[in-house]
Amino acid sequence: MKINCLFLILCCANMLYTQEASIHEQATQLLQQYLQINTTNPPGQEMQAAVFFKKICEQEGIEFQIFDLGEGRANFLGILRGNGTQKPIILLHHSDVVPAEPSYWKVDPFSGAIINGEIYGRGAVDIKGKGIIDLAAIIQLKRSKFPLTRDILFLAVADEEENSLGTRWMVTHHPEIIQNAEFLIDEGECIVVHDAARTPLHYMVSIGEKAPLWLTLTFTGQPGHGSIPMQDSAVNQAIRAAYKIISYETPLQLNPILHAYVGMLLESQDITKIPGYTQDLSTSLQNPAFLQAIGQNPEINAAIRNTISLTCLKGSDKTNTIPNQASMSIDCRLLPGQDKDEFIRNLQNLIQNPTMQITVEEYSPATCSSWDNAFSRALAKCAQKRNPAATVIPTILLSSTDSTFYRPLGIQAYGFEPYCLNFDERNLAHSNDERIQVSNIAFGIDLLVDLLKELNQ
Ligand SMILES: [Zn+2]
Repeated sequence: MKINCLFLILCCANMLYTQEASIHEQATQLLQQYLQINTTNPPGQEMQAAVFFKKICEQEGIEFQIFDLGEGRANFLGILRGNGTQKPIILLHHSDVVPAEPSYWKVDPFSGAIINGEIYGRGAVDIKGKGIIDLAAIIQLKRSKFPLTRDILFLAVADEEENSLGTRWMVTHHPEIIQNAEFLIDEGECIVVHDAARTPLHYMVSIGEKAPLWLTLTFTGQPGHGSIPMQDSAVNQAIRAAYKIISYETPLQLNPILHAYVGMLLESQDITKIPGYTQDLSTSLQNPAFLQAIGQNPEINAAIRNTISLTCLKGSDKTNTIPNQASMSIDCRLLPGQDKDEFIRNLQNLIQNPTMQITVEEYSPATCSSWDNAFSRALAKCAQKRNPAATVIPTILLSSTDSTFYRPLGIQAYGFEPYCLNFDERNLAHSNDERIQVSNIAFGIDLLVDLLKELNQ
């Protein structure tokens, strides 16, 4: 009897969450524990997260696999089987987080502490919160024995914040596990709230991403002593080229799929007062003068054109020396469907400098998924149920995520975090005191379960 009691106590101590609690409460406990696992990248050490998920899946009787990537890094896959009449859906998140500086936080960034209804920790918003919502949703579907028509894959990958090692590894070593999927839900956008009542207003979904194109432009000239200026020194050439670049305006081009997104960004203004306004928003969006005017908003500007940010300038490291070479680095982001080589040719034509050498430091093509399909319809239905006035808005992300590696496999990948954030909360990713409301965990699980049920009819 004594031994049994001890055994029972040990079992309970091993439990990851309170058995009699609701899935919402259990998920909150799990998120606190997940945030306590330090997966700061570098070095990531995501095997710790994989072991954590393994324990949960064992407890819930969910099939799983751990992929050991070496040096403490790992991907984790949990699988809920459907009857196979439809293609699988992947719930993706990354288990690494960016570094946190504890002295700037009001709590330990790896405490998972709950203060005033908010869970604090590095990764709460980016993106461990979504990871736990994904896992809780499949636990809920498993417990309720919901008849699935497709497999649901819970995938936690390593290293998204640095080099996407985990996703690259899956795509290279196990394409057979993922490439048959029809849909993938990744990080990206979320549900926008504005008012104090936190009414879900816009269900934002990123359906594509701009292409990062990082270039270094190097100029060569006669070296010499700083006491004898030279008009055509490498530094002067670089400065003239830099001036041309910052004065240059790339052409405006609005993808029709972004009309609703631009409309949302303009909703606080009286658009009839904007120069170039004619008739209504969609007519006005055909007018270059209107586009030019709304492009004053930096976020709209980045959505309607290829952008160039001048980020580094290098010349001599001695004040009295005119160097052989000077260079600048520019961070360019191209809209989906743009040709990188043509963009570079345009730059050469703009700068017109025979000494200029262009080096491509980084490039990955822009990707875009289709919209108007079973996914968008299912999400619209779920949004309607929760708030009849809510809209579902597709966008193109200005930065990039792991989705960009899955789209070329034919998977329709969407950036959708199923929780409600206001503008300030959206900026908490990578920031100090990163946190998420406890109520968002319950909201997210219910919404995702609902969405998955819709997609499994
Ligand atoms: Zn992230």
